[in-house]
Amino acid sequence: MTDLLYQTDSYLQEFDATITSVLLPERAVVLNRSAFYPGGGGQPCDFSTLTVGSETYPVHKVKKQGEDVLHFLGGDALPPSIDAASHGTLDWARRYGLMRTHTALHILCGVVFRDYGARVTGGEMEPLRGRLDFEFETMGGELVREIEISINKEVAQRREIGVRILPREEAFQIQDLIRTKINLLPPGIAHVRTVEIVGLDLQADGGTHVHNTSEVGIIRIADYKSKGAINKRIYVELA
Ligand SMILES: [Zn+2]
Repeated sequence: MTDLLYQTDSYLQEFDATITSVLLPERAVVLNRSAFYPGGGGQPCDFSTLTVGSETYPVHKVKKQGEDVLHFLGGDALPPSIDAASHGTLDWARRYGLMRTHTALHILCGVVFRDYGARVTGGEMEPLRGRLDFEFETMGGELVREIEISINKEVAQRREIGVRILPREEAFQIQDLIRTKINLLPPGIAHVRTVEIVGLDLQADGGTHVHNTSEVGIIRIADYKSKGAINKRIYVELA
């Protein structure tokens, strides 16, 4: 089982950990703790390096498997052995870009629901660009310009972002979470992690976010698309 350090400290860039398992054919190791995001909820995984003794391995993929996080090692050095001490270092430029982008998408989601009552049906992101799909019948060019102004107001408002880990029963009593389909969470999950842009948006979310909307910077709506009468897509880009 891997302790997910990024869940409570998204700004952690380096950490020490012990290798608890080595999967030889895949060149993957499990650590007892990790700050590397394994991907999920539309946010891609981190890239990083893992140093063991005198060897530094590039980590080109990170993936959750049950309660473990698998770290896939690049290079051609022999994989490290079980119980070895290791030191992980994030590709911080990539991760911080993803944090700003992820928060930008929550701002967009919050504004579109608050101002137009439209719900998100899906999304995707890479560093500094992303998209969200909405059930948003009335969306068109004029509205998109309005939305762009409104989301940048939320950036300028310097809203704080809070992360909490709540017992399932408690989370299920929060109305704002119910609208984001929290009821679809698998029954086995005892705790729900929530991400709140204070005063704007509250979601059950496993991703990494910045502390304040001001860190997102100017959000540009780069494009929009109609995917049918109801389903619309909005693309954003950050500087
Ligand atoms: Zn999210």
